[in-house]
Amino acid sequence: MHRFFVAPELVRQLHAGITLPRELAHQLRDVLHLQVGQQIMLLDNSGDEILATIASVSKSAVGVQPLERRAGKSESPVRIILCQGLLKSARFEWILEKGTELGVSIFAPILCRRSMAGLEDAGISKMQRWQRIIQEAAEQSGRARLPELLPIRPLMHALNDIPPGALALMPWEEERAVTLRDALRDGMHQITVVLFIGPEGGLAADEVGLAQQHGVRAVSLGSRILRAETAALAAVACIMYELER
Ligand code: SAM
Repeated sequence: MHRFFVAPELVRQLHAGITLPRELAHQLRDVLHLQVGQQIMLLDNSGDEILATIASVSKSAVGVQPLERRAGKSESPVRIILCQGLLKSARFEWILEKGTELGVSIFAPILCRRSMAGLEDAGISKMQRWQRIIQEAAEQSGRARLPELLPIRPLMHALNDIPPGALALMPWEEERAVTLRDALRDGMHQITVVLFIGPEGGLAADEVGLAQQHGVRAVSLGSRILRAETAALAAVACIMYELER
């Protein structure tokens, strides 16, 4: 069933017929060619799902009738905050799409020492494009809540922002003693995980030192050096595998 995030006020009154916003009406009528009588799922980012049926389709508008509101089933109790060292756009967008599918709750792009120059200023249109990638991935993967996308910040700000009681982990390519599995086994009872992944150029030793002063554990993801986007998604998948029950 097709799923669509809509403005919460649109589905506030359950039994009132709804006229869809023009852009969404265009998508249903002209792109997906959905017909009267077909059912769709509307999402207001509350975590609920609103089952609705298409009531009317015309050149000017598409009307739907909400039928039932119910709690979404796909949101994980594990809350992952992915602090990703900013990468070239295409690679970062890949993390947004796949990270959304894997269940990330918050994407926090961070500026690290070795972040490539010129990435720090993501204008409005780029942020809107990133939001759209997240929304499409959330609709496709059956999520009922949109992951949050924070503005780009320096690593230090993200370190100061670690929620109390969270398990904070920093995969570091030079870490040899502690593996991600060790850290997750120690942190089994925690449900909020803050994950710091370096940029293309990797993490500098003093950045890792600074993070450790903020209670972050450096961990290894194995002996092979992974590309940043591979490291991010592998770590997220491992965390969900280990902690999501
Ligand atoms: N130059 C490559 C690139 O362009 O992507 C690699 C950059 S660097 C290794 C990317 C980040 O991925 C690192 O800072 C670290 O956070 C993580 N990473 C990659 N391989 C890792 C490993 N074997 N153990 C722990 N972290 C790793």
